[in-house]
Amino acid sequence: MIKVEHVSKSFGKLEVLKDVSFQVEEGQTVALIGSSGSGKSTLLRTLNLLETPDSGDITIGDVSFNANDITKTTIAEVRQRTAMVFQRFNLFTNKTALQNVAEALIVVQHKSKAEAFDIARKRLEDVGMANWADHYPRALSGGQQQRVAIARALALNPEYLLFDEPTSALDPELVGEVLGIIQQLAQRKKTMLIVTHEMAFARDVADKVVFLDKGRIAEEGNPKSFFVHPTTQRAQQFLARFR
Ligand code: ADP
Ligand code: MG
Repeated sequence: MIKVEHVSKSFGKLEVLKDVSFQVEEGQTVALIGSSGSGKSTLLRTLNLLETPDSGDITIGDVSFNANDITKTTIAEVRQRTAMVFQRFNLFTNKTALQNVAEALIVVQHKSKAEAFDIARKRLEDVGMANWADHYPRALSGGQQQRVAIARALALNPEYLLFDEPTSALDPELVGEVLGIIQQLAQRKKTMLIVTHEMAFARDVADKVVFLDKGRIAEEGNPKSFFVHPTTQRAQQFLARFR
């Protein structure tokens, strides 16, 4: 599981995460929601140690660490267990879909090219992109590029998937195909933390919703009750914007 205990993080004088605690159980899909600037990306990046927390404890599967006790080994162990999917797909433009997915398998995991391409083909199949393996990103729609990015994350076989607004950069008609892939991963009981503004998706697919407000968790709970009866005024105000 992912366990976050009393995590705080500032950038200079700006307190971005304030005593944040929550958990993602094995096999759960958790939606992290909140206004722009509330600290969602920082929280996700902290879990991956792209940002260093100032204080608090984090558990990523069998790796636990305190903010004051982060070594290169910790970072390597955390990165081994997590994969992140960003709003912007960040594919290599000079590599095909297949090469994009295979790249880290070859460079980071030192697999043979044959094995890497074999795995990459399977992961492209998982996201419905097998027929596009030899295409370059410029020949793919945004939704297709994001599906390749998801295949690339899956290829490394991470225990935990972290999504940061995976559909925010897409044209509206392309959002569904990417959410559909994430929903399939949820059904396969992948453990996932997803920052999203897609409230219907969070309601229907997430096992739990965590609402971040100005760096604090203002409310969390079962999506069915959260979306119908948010208990805090902040969550009520936030959700009103989506009605
Ligand atoms: P969200 O993803 O919820 O929109 P972020 O985590 O990106 O929020 O940002 C939270 C706050 O932290 C914002 O005020 C943002 O400007 C600030 N911030 C994020 N990253 C940095 C950084 N590297 N340096 C300084 N301020 C940052
Ligand atoms: Mg963000």
